[in-house]
Amino acid sequence: MRTSSPSGSTALSALIQRTLHLTGDAFLNTLVAGIARELGAHWVFITRALDFPTTRVAVVASSQQSSPKSFALPGTPCALVYLGQPVLIEHGVSERFEPARALACETFLGYPFFDGAGQCTGHLGLFFQTPYQPPASLEATLTLLTKRISAELLRLDTQNRLDSTRRRLDFQNRILQQAARHAPLTEVLNKLLLGIEQERPGSHCSLMQPTADGKQLNLIAAPTLPTGYTQHLRNIPIRDQAGSCGTAAFSGERVIIDDIATHPYWTRFREKVLPYGLRSCWSQPVHAADGTLEAVFAIYQEQPGTPTAEEIELIESVAALVSLVMENYRTTASLIETTRRYKLFLHTSADGIIVLNQEGEFIEISDGFLRQVGATDRAQLAGTRIWDWDAQPDETAYRERLSHCSETPVMLSTRQRRLDGTNWDAEISMAAFQDGQRTLIWASARDVSERKRMEAELLRRATYDALTGLFNRGSFMHALSAEFQRSQRHARPLAVMMLDIDHFKQINDRLGHHTGDVVLQQVASAFTDTLRQEDGVGRIGGEEFAFFLPETTAEGAAEVAERIRQRVAALDFRDLGLQEGVRCSIGYTLLEGDEPTHEALLSRADHALYAAKAGGRNRICHTQSNDEQSDDDTGR
Ligand code: GH3
Ligand code: MG
Ligand code: MG
Repeated sequence: MRTSSPSGSTALSALIQRTLHLTGDAFLNTLVAGIARELGAHWVFITRALDFPTTRVAVVASSQQSSPKSFALPGTPCALVYLGQPVLIEHGVSERFEPARALACETFLGYPFFDGAGQCTGHLGLFFQTPYQPPASLEATLTLLTKRISAELLRLDTQNRLDSTRRRLDFQNRILQQAARHAPLTEVLNKLLLGIEQERPGSHCSLMQPTADGKQLNLIAAPTLPTGYTQHLRNIPIRDQAGSCGTAAFSGERVIIDDIATHPYWTRFREKVLPYGLRSCWSQPVHAADGTLEAVFAIYQEQPGTPTAEEIELIESVAALVSLVMENYRTTASLIETTRRYKLFLHTSADGIIVLNQEGEFIEISDGFLRQVGATDRAQLAGTRIWDWDAQPDETAYRERLSHCSETPVMLSTRQRRLDGTNWDAEISMAAFQDGQRTLIWASARDVSERKRMEAELLRRATYDALTGLFNRGSFMHALSAEFQRSQRHARPLAVMMLDIDHFKQINDRLGHHTGDVVLQQVASAFTDTLRQEDGVGRIGGEEFAFFLPETTAEGAAEVAERIRQRVAALDFRDLGLQEGVRCSIGYTLLEGDEPTHEALLSRADHALYAAKAGGRNRICHTQSNDEQSDDDTGR
């Protein structure tokens, strides 16, 4: 038996001093080599727990190059140390631990170290080829040493975590940049999965996407899974207990399969995957922001096992990244489609469509609007504002309108100007919308010139007599009614007159209907030449006409009637074959006090006309309200 001299612990204290300035692997390696040298140990190493309760450990430093990188703990001499106490086994460790046997070591000395919560997180192990008895003073020194080791490992952990967080962030940024540049989606996803695999040697990633009906999954990326296996990853049913990914898609929850060889979810599928050396599969559903299933991400390992907390964090961060990338592509694709439809709508619409800012400047001009203003190129509108295209530009009114525009469309009827100076009638519907920070106005202009023209034509036809251009019966009665009320309200004089052409039937009979028409037209224009602006005249029957003369007394009316009679009589129709010309009879009356209606007034004038006819024609008669007799003005 060999005992270390008391100087062993002194030498170790010196070793602690010597390694104070060292960190990381340099510290650990110098330490194990130093301990081996100072204590005459054949093999000194440091392990760390890979899981809790600990079943596997990693060898983080070793004085022997040939030692394993990790090993299963149960049954080894080291397992006893993990119970939390220093352990000395003087004989026979080679039988229990293959690496010790390879190095012909029989004696084992182990010291645990702990985390802040008192949990054993690793150990310092020493193997001796010859029996070894540690001196009492050694324990305190080695305990101190293990504290220093665990502090350094903790520091390394923190640094590694920081490094890997930084690496992961860099990686995420690179992926997102590619997505932003719109590299093909599968290319970006493959890069993403490859990045994960590089961080975790021995693992293979896949991404599956649900079909449109949500019933099956299909592979979209798997950079390193063997093709012999990936060819089976088609139309995988989304069902409970159907593989890892099918179940994850079905349940919306992460599915951890620790051993494909034995897990019931893989019963129907395991023969397809086991030949490729894949043993565990962890599947994570990837959801879009609205909660719908976007994809299923999976990591396959060549070893059976369950993920550590860190690995779960990794899986979740990959899912978040995949969701971001895929959603970005989907949004962009739908944006492109929306824009395409918008452009199609914009330029095929018969209406002119423009987008304006509140300064009245054109942000967008449709082909339809270009056509409406008679332009062939948008450059022809450069520098102009919306009001420049109004036939009567009113910048203030337009600015007011633009600044008060809301999301509720308002309609504006305007007369617009074309490039060549001609005009067109527009109905413009305008509504505001928000474009980022600025308010824009969407305006749709319809050319209503033709409709306006037809409306005007209809109005004209409804108002005027087609042959003479005078008021027709309806509009004359309407105008008379208004004038009647006005005169009555203000107690102003009003004269009403009826005129009928004498023996007109004979003209028709002798010279034909067409000649009759020409006579009617010329008689009508003789009236308008004779009357004042404010007087009204209408054709209320075949060759019967009615007049109203505002602000006209009996004398005035008699004068006008006589003037008209003479003008008609003076018309020259000789070129029509009507040598003697035409004559007419006229009856008039005056508004007196509280007349019941304008019709009553007109019928009194008609009475007077009747009297003129009865009196021999070509004469003027008048009637007063209190006197149903009509008097012959001319006395003929
Ligand atoms: P008087 O009034 O002097 O008693 O005799 P008249 O011959 O004028 O009498 P009447 O009122 O009977 O005849 C009016 C004629 O006017 C009958 C009709 O053929 C004719 N007439 C009515 N409308 C039109 C028209 O639009 N064009 C033409 N050419 N003739 C019309
Ligand atoms: Mg007549
Ligand atoms: Mg008549």
